[in-house]
Amino acid sequence: MNRRESVDYSSILGQIATDKVKRLKSFILLISLSLALFFILNILIYQQGYAYTLVVAFGIFLFLHWFVCEDTLPVVSGIFIWTLTLLAFFFAWNIEGLYDTSLLAYPCILVFCAMLNSRLLIISTTTFMVLSIYCLAYAEYIGLLASPLAEFADWRKAHNMALVLLVFASVVYLLTKDIDRLLERLVKMHVNSLRNKTRTQRKALTNRLTLLPNEIACAQYVQGRIYRHHQAEQLSALMVLTLNNLNSINASLGFDIGDKLINMIAQRLNTLSEDNAKIFHSSNNQFFIFIDETDYHDIEAFAHQALQTTFFSNYVEQYEVEVSACIGIAIAPHDGNHYDALLRRAHTALTKAVQMGHNQYAFFDLEMEQQSKARLAMLAGLKRAIEQQEFELYYQPKIELSSNSIAGVEALIRWRLPDDTLIPSSIFIPVAEASGLINEIGIWVVKQAAKDCLTWHQLGFNQLGVSVNASAEQFKKGNFGSLVLKTLKQQKLDPSYLDIEITESLFIEDEKNIQAQIHQMVSQGISISIDDFGTGYSNLNYLTKFNASTLKIDQSFIKNMMHERNQYHLVDAILKMSHAIGIENIAEGIEDKSTANILVQLGCRYGQGYFWSKPIPQQAFCQFLINWPKHSKAS
Ligand code: C2E
Ligand code: MG
Ligand code: MG
Repeated sequence: MNRRESVDYSSILGQIATDKVKRLKSFILLISLSLALFFILNILIYQQGYAYTLVVAFGIFLFLHWFVCEDTLPVVSGIFIWTLTLLAFFFAWNIEGLYDTSLLAYPCILVFCAMLNSRLLIISTTTFMVLSIYCLAYAEYIGLLASPLAEFADWRKAHNMALVLLVFASVVYLLTKDIDRLLERLVKMHVNSLRNKTRTQRKALTNRLTLLPNEIACAQYVQGRIYRHHQAEQLSALMVLTLNNLNSINASLGFDIGDKLINMIAQRLNTLSEDNAKIFHSSNNQFFIFIDETDYHDIEAFAHQALQTTFFSNYVEQYEVEVSACIGIAIAPHDGNHYDALLRRAHTALTKAVQMGHNQYAFFDLEMEQQSKARLAMLAGLKRAIEQQEFELYYQPKIELSSNSIAGVEALIRWRLPDDTLIPSSIFIPVAEASGLINEIGIWVVKQAAKDCLTWHQLGFNQLGVSVNASAEQFKKGNFGSLVLKTLKQQKLDPSYLDIEITESLFIEDEKNIQAQIHQMVSQGISISIDDFGTGYSNLNYLTKFNASTLKIDQSFIKNMMHERNQYHLVDAILKMSHAIGIENIAEGIEDKSTANILVQLGCRYGQGYFWSKPIPQQAFCQFLINWPKHSKAS
């Protein structure tokens, strides 16, 4: 029997013993009551003797009633049964021998023995009872008993009585055995069902992959601890640790390797468990850590240690895989006194840590929550904006610096709220990207830009093309290229009039998938520009890989190039490089004539900025085109 089983058994046997104590107490009370009645009837009314015997027996029973408990049960049962048996014999001896009514107590005593579940008592008392019957018969035979009924007693009566008693005792004995067996079977069944229940409960509280306690176990554990420590005014920390690049490991090396890696990290993290620090595995790439009775210094040290634990190069089979992690931390009682609140806030902190980069941890603060609430409100607003068509496109011209003609137009999205407030793209595009809504918005942009481009053509500016911005998120699904081409087809705009502006951040995403979509678009005549060049990776290799035809030098360089030599040289270098690899260039954010002039001198071909025009709505832009002194109409 294993430990758990024996614990189950002992708890059930303990329960049985408690029941027996209760039963014995009620027997003792019952017998004490009958003795009291016997005393009143025989001693007080019929003036018979033996008052002392009854008082002594009564005293013994009262003592037993007080003394009985689980530990003393066998002794008290024995004393009780034997006192009763001897008492019955005493009265039979002293009053009417084999004819005395007290012998009727013998079968009752055997029933008590059965109910107390003691076979030893049944055997011993039955033996005594049979002997006592023969003893009474013998006593009468030799004239030792003075009862008037004694002369009627004989050996035959003793045989009959002994026989009846033996049959009765045997039945009682067998009954006890049956009860015993039944009880044992019931106990076994009960233990089995308890064990099954415990096993199911344990399964429900364990993560199947790593066998660490899961989030349900975490909720139960944390809530109990927070409640205790809230009263003791101590700090507790709930951390959410997420492994950053697990998805790409699963995708490239397979789920088997991914699972082995998680297991390895789980075991390593688990070595950090202490009395006051527990590790839970909630889902695939997420672990919860709860530390209590602690302070900020220890929490930071622990977070640092946990990050280091996951950061190692991990060898899984023959592969060396690198994993990084981020941790969000919420502190009780400051950030909440309830598990749900703490978990929500730890997740909010995690978002911040992930934004900070790899292997970072962040504590929750209220500002984060306000930001995340604002993001949620914005997300709801964006969904409505898609349904109600609240987006507008503004247009900004791209100027060929040498000829001062309009060489192209960039479409920039704006969100006009029902109360006429105009929200700039820098505010809502990141939320749209994070939520995936950018996919729907992005295709609307292409469609609207195509429509407006055709309007310019109808006005006579039939060489003018339009540039739309596309973020990395839009390429992730893999169908952006075909959606763009389909939209252009629907709008009947030739693909050569469309330019897609992508940023360098795209280069670190799934390279092959993006390259395929770009090739698909380029093969149909769409051109690609690299936006905000110089702020990202600036990996020249990518320019050719992604078929870029134009480099857009970021406005941060242009803005300061007149005052900062470094920026000036950087712009100069980018321009020289673009000439060298035969790629067009355009400078963004030109706000004054002197900057435009310098850029011309440095060999910059195109410019864009407030110097010529801010981004303006379509109607105003059409007017702008008509009023433009020299435009691309001629080209
Ligand atoms: P971007 O593509 O680099 O756009 C240039 C930004 O610089 C625009 O801001 C434009 O208004 C601003 N700008 C242009 N000339 C000047 C100037 O002379 N001085 C100054 N200070 N600023 C100038 P905007 O419209 O707020 O757009 C910000 C960013 O939002 C864009 O940067 C682009 O990355 C993104 N974006 C805009 N529209 C879309 C869109 O339809 N789809 C996607 N995915 N992103 C978009
Ligand atoms: Mg742009
Ligand atoms: Mg830009």
